[in-house]
Amino acid sequence: MTTDPECIFCKIVAGDLPAEKIHEDDETVAFMDVNPGTRGHALVVPKKHTKDLLEIEPDQLAAVAQSAQVVARRAMERLDADGVNLLNCCGEEAWQTVFHFHLHVVPRYVDDPLQLPWIPAPGEPDEIARTAKLLRD
Ligand code: AMP
Ligand code: ZN
Repeated sequence: MTTDPECIFCKIVAGDLPAEKIHEDDETVAFMDVNPGTRGHALVVPKKHTKDLLEIEPDQLAAVAQSAQVVARRAMERLDADGVNLLNCCGEEAWQTVFHFHLHVVPRYVDDPLQLPWIPAPGEPDEIARTAKLLRD
């Protein structure tokens, strides 16, 4: 198992740093975020240290996504959440602060204070089409 001795999430996985673990399987661990955005905010990480979305192996990504689904279902059933956001931050500019891949599982409630981080407004169709060209297979 690849670990980084400086990484706080590796330390949590190893049990060397305390955390409120809520789910574990062969590939992943889920634990409570210490700065919860809402009640039940959890993080799901691969046990193997990987920096971010661009570096994680596809099977590891799938394992983390499956654990996140387990945690999301529990939030709906046991915390009476009304919805769930899954969030990943990849890169400092995208708000990543811990460089061990993780998915945030954020339970949502009708009266919670969270807001969309962008203001939805129609894009310029030509610009959208030009950008699509760059992203298409
Ligand atoms: P991100 O900013 O997407 O990299 O998310 C990192 C998250 O890790 C933040 O929401 C922090 O609150 C959370 N966090 C940092 N240290 C710990 C820790 N020791 N235990 C649990 N959550 C942590
Ligand atoms: Zn790590």
